[in-house]
Amino acid sequence: MVKFLDLKVINAQYQNELKEACANVIDSGWYVRGTNVQEFESDFAQFCDVDYCVGVANGLDALTLTLRAWKELGKLKDGDEVIVQGNTYIASILAITENNLIPILVEPDPNTYNLTSDGVESAITEKTKVILPVHLYGQISPMDEIMLIADKYKLLVLEDCAQSHGAILQNRKCGSWGHAGAFSFYPGKNLGALGDGGAVTTNDRELADVIQALGNYGSEKKYENIYIGVNSRLDEMQAAMLNVKLKYLPAETKRRQAVAQSYLDGINNAHIQLPYLCNINGHVWHLFVIKTLHRELLQEYLLSNGIQTLIHYPKPPHKQVAYANMSQYELPITETIHEQVISLPMGSTLSESDVLKVINVCNSFVCG
Ligand SMILES: *Cc1c(COP(=O)(O)O)cnc(C)c1O
Repeated sequence: MVKFLDLKVINAQYQNELKEACANVIDSGWYVRGTNVQEFESDFAQFCDVDYCVGVANGLDALTLTLRAWKELGKLKDGDEVIVQGNTYIASILAITENNLIPILVEPDPNTYNLTSDGVESAITEKTKVILPVHLYGQISPMDEIMLIADKYKLLVLEDCAQSHGAILQNRKCGSWGHAGAFSFYPGKNLGALGDGGAVTTNDRELADVIQALGNYGSEKKYENIYIGVNSRLDEMQAAMLNVKLKYLPAETKRRQAVAQSYLDGINNAHIQLPYLCNINGHVWHLFVIKTLHRELLQEYLLSNGIQTLIHYPKPPHKQVAYANMSQYELPITETIHEQVISLPMGSTLSESDVLKVINVCNSFVCG
C-alpha cells in the first residue's frame, strides 16, 4: 500500500535526535516558555527572513491572535471585512469570525486555487481592512500583486502559511511578504511537530509583542494583565521537536519538489488534470492535488491498486452547517474544486518505486 502520508516513517528518520531532544526537555525541569522556544522562534524567524517569530499553540491561534492583536492596536474593529478565498480550509474563516470580523469570500484562480489580485480588488469596500491570502496546497499566492493592492487601499495582509513553509516568490519567503504570516506545525504539515504548534512571523515589533502577550493571558509582565488574553503557547517539548526538524526542512522540501516533478512529467491521462505550477520554488507541495470529473471511480481504482488518497476538501466553508449564514454565497469555481479534487500521496519519504506505482496506476485508469 502506498500510504497517503506516513508520519511514523517521517519521524523515524530523526528518531535518535528527537529522543535525545525529548530527554533533554524532561531533564531540564522547564516545560513552558524556555530556551527551546526561544531558539525555535529565533531560527524560524531567520528561516522566513523576518525580524520576529512568536510561538503559539497551533495554526488557528496564529491566525486568530494576529487579527485580535490588530484589534487591540486599534487597526481593526468589529464588523470590518477580511477578503479570503472561498475554497480555503475552515480554519482561515474561523479566525475571522472568532474576532467578529466579516469574511468576504472570493473565487480563487481555478488553476492555482489561490487569490488573484483582480479577485481581491473587485471585493474591496469601505469596510475592507485585511487581505488574507492562503497559500493553498503549498503554492505561494501572487504576493507581489497583492501587496501593491494592499498599499493602494491601505489594507493589512495576513498570510495563511499553514501549508507553505518555505515557499518562495522572487527570493522572498512566504510569511515575510505580508504584515504577518501564520504558520501551523500540526504533525502532517510540511514542518510538523509531534503534537500541536503554531507561530506568527512579522517585521512589526509592536504586533509581535501584543501577540506574545495575548497568548500569555494578556500579560507582558507576570501578574500584570493589559489585555483579556488566552493561553496559547508553543511548549518546550514541541519546540524541541521542531528545532530538530527545521534543519531538515529544506531537504524535505527538495524531495517533495522532486516527487511532484515526477508526477507532473509522468502522469498522462485525459481524465486527470494536473496541478498548475507557477514557478519551481513557489510551491512546496504540501499536497499534490489533481482534478477529475470521475472522482469516485478514480479514487476507488487507486485504492484497489494499493494507493491511498484523500480529498482536500469535500465541502467549502460556506456550505458547512456552522456557516449557514454564508449559504447565500454562489461560488461556482470554489464549488467545482470541492467536487473534483483528489490529493495523491505526497511526502519526503515516498520511494521512487512508490512514485512510479502512483504514476502507472493513474495512467492505466480508464472510465466506463
Ligand atoms: C492546518 C491549517 C490551519 C490550522 O492549523 P492548526 O495548527 O491545525 O490549527 C490553518 N489554515 C490552513 C490553510 C491549514 O491548512
